[in-house]
Amino acid sequence: MLGPCSVESYEQTRAVAELIHDLGLRVIRGGAFKPRTSPRSFQGLGEKGLKILRAVADEFGLLVVSEALGVEQLPLVSEYADIIQVGSRNMQHFPLLWALGEVDKPVLLKRGFMSTVDEWLAAAEHIASRGNPNILLCERGIRTFETATRNTLDTSAIALVKQFSSYPVLGDPSHATGRADLVIPAARSAVAAGADGLLVEVHPRPSEALSDGMQSLTLEQARQLVDDVRRVAAALGREVA
Ligand code: PEP
Ligand code: MN
Repeated sequence: MLGPCSVESYEQTRAVAELIHDLGLRVIRGGAFKPRTSPRSFQGLGEKGLKILRAVADEFGLLVVSEALGVEQLPLVSEYADIIQVGSRNMQHFPLLWALGEVDKPVLLKRGFMSTVDEWLAAAEHIASRGNPNILLCERGIRTFETATRNTLDTSAIALVKQFSSYPVLGDPSHATGRADLVIPAARSAVAAGADGLLVEVHPRPSEALSDGMQSLTLEQARQLVDDVRRVAAALGREVA
């Protein structure tokens, strides 16, 4: 799953959709409602962003994953997205999890950056217990004492969760590292640890991105990532669908 942190324009989003299609991949990501730490940061285009995502996804036959920040946004986000993302800051937003249990769409549940594996799996149970078994778990890095990277990718958690949960597990090397130059190696390590998929931020011009530009890959770097991931997967007897 590739795409910009935030949907900013039709051109920007379409460029990534075209790349995804060229690479033979299936899912575009993009934030329309953004959970920004600062209220002064770009908050996303809202419904306009969802419309852009849907239009470019339909043009290239892709699925859309996008975040809902609260229960009140679910009807709108469900209208445009195929997979609904729960952000790291919302992993224990229980009313949102309960409401997602009643939605007929898969949920991409990010691990809270201060949450244990048990808390993460319990959050997934909150969704499943209300009737929605279609959950994708996403390890996106946790906060540690290390400040050289934005977060710390917990690859052992990926391997651990694969041992006793039947949900697919994804790795997000973008938020885990916060640095474009570390995204490819982190992606390779997530796949080597057993991840079933990846969620990666890509922008046609990262230096102009309105959010998370430092960790966004260029289109060219994204091609390299997918090439590397195909080879790591093949070495492990798996393949990129
Ligand atoms: C994102 O996917 O852009 C995002 C906000 O991620 P997280 O919730 O992991 O910080
Ligand atoms: Mn982001």
